Amino acid sequence: MSDISMESAASATVYKTLLESTKAIPWKIDWNTMQFAYIGPQIEPLLGWSPQSWVSVQDWVDRMHPDDRDKVVNFCVSQSKAGVDHEADYRAMTKDGHYVWIRDVVHVVRKENGEVDALIGFMFDISERKQNEEKLAQLQKELEALSFKDGLTGVANRRMFDAVLQTEWAQARRNQEPLSLIILDVDHFKQYNDCYGHLQGDECLKRVAQTMAASVQRPRDFLARFGGEEFVIVLPETDAGSARKVAERCLDLIAHARIPHAGAGSGQILSVSIGVGTTIPGPDDEPKAFIDQVDSQLYQAKRNGRNCIV
Ligand code: GH3
Ligand code: MG
Ligand code: MG
Repeated sequence: MSDISMESAASATVYKTLLESTKAIPWKIDWNTMQFAYIGPQIEPLLGWSPQSWVSVQDWVDRMHPDDRDKVVNFCVSQSKAGVDHEADYRAMTKDGHYVWIRDVVHVVRKENGEVDALIGFMFDISERKQNEEKLAQLQKELEALSFKDGLTGVANRRMFDAVLQTEWAQARRNQEPLSLIILDVDHFKQYNDCYGHLQGDECLKRVAQTMAASVQRPRDFLARFGGEEFVIVLPETDAGSARKVAERCLDLIAHARIPHAGAGSGQILSVSIGVGTTIPGPDDEPKAFIDQVDSQLYQAKRNGRNCIV
């Protein structure tokens, strides 16, 4: 061998060693035959398929998750035809039928006349990154849910109530339909805490929330904790008569729950007071004034001796 060819053989060995000792998996596809000209031996420890089993592009297609296949294959083919370097993430199937997230980074090699000659690229194992992304997305979702949920009772919180009321208000105004609102406040709850302690008070509020949840029936009816020991129910497309019935159901269900309350005066069971209102919002009406109006109904119920509806 001449010095030059020995040198080039030596450097080819160096390159091969380098390529095959990286974590990324190198490969080459001949564009004319659509066959793998090369694939790094690292493919076997990662996916279980031997390098010899990667013969044609079809092998690559077949070993891709069916949900990723069309999108990724179409994308890669069109980019390659256009001669554009690209990358794609997909799930590659392992020999035993599992999936590993891969990022394929592809370089298009052209002939002197500009035609595509080959594709060369690296496959990277990105399963850990994907798992982290999925975990983060899940946490994000949970966080979003938590930020609209009351931590104690599990029903929607005030923030969610504001959003829902805004939406239903707009809809009722647009369609000129009645919208009803119930505000409910536990009677003598300060005394309840004083009698039984704050923790028992918390348990009681959970119970009240569950009972209220049982008294709303239509899918669009919406229950939230308004704050402290107050709850609200938004009743879209509901007239005054129907709203009154829901309020009566709340009052009855709470009475039936027979939650002991030694400080409650007569009956020694926990009761609630309820304000109910119905409106068909006009063009200049605002939800705030409506809430205030129903809140003053509630205040009137307290003055009327509690355990009642106004
Ligand atoms: P009224 O019949 O007039 O409604 O009297 P009340 O004692 O229920 O009314 P008040 O507004 O004076 O007291 C409400 C009490 O609710 C005071 C507060 O300590 C208690 N409270 C508010 N939020 C919570 C909570 O999350 N847990 C517990 N245990 N108590 C709470
Ligand atoms: Mg109150
Ligand atoms: Mg109260």
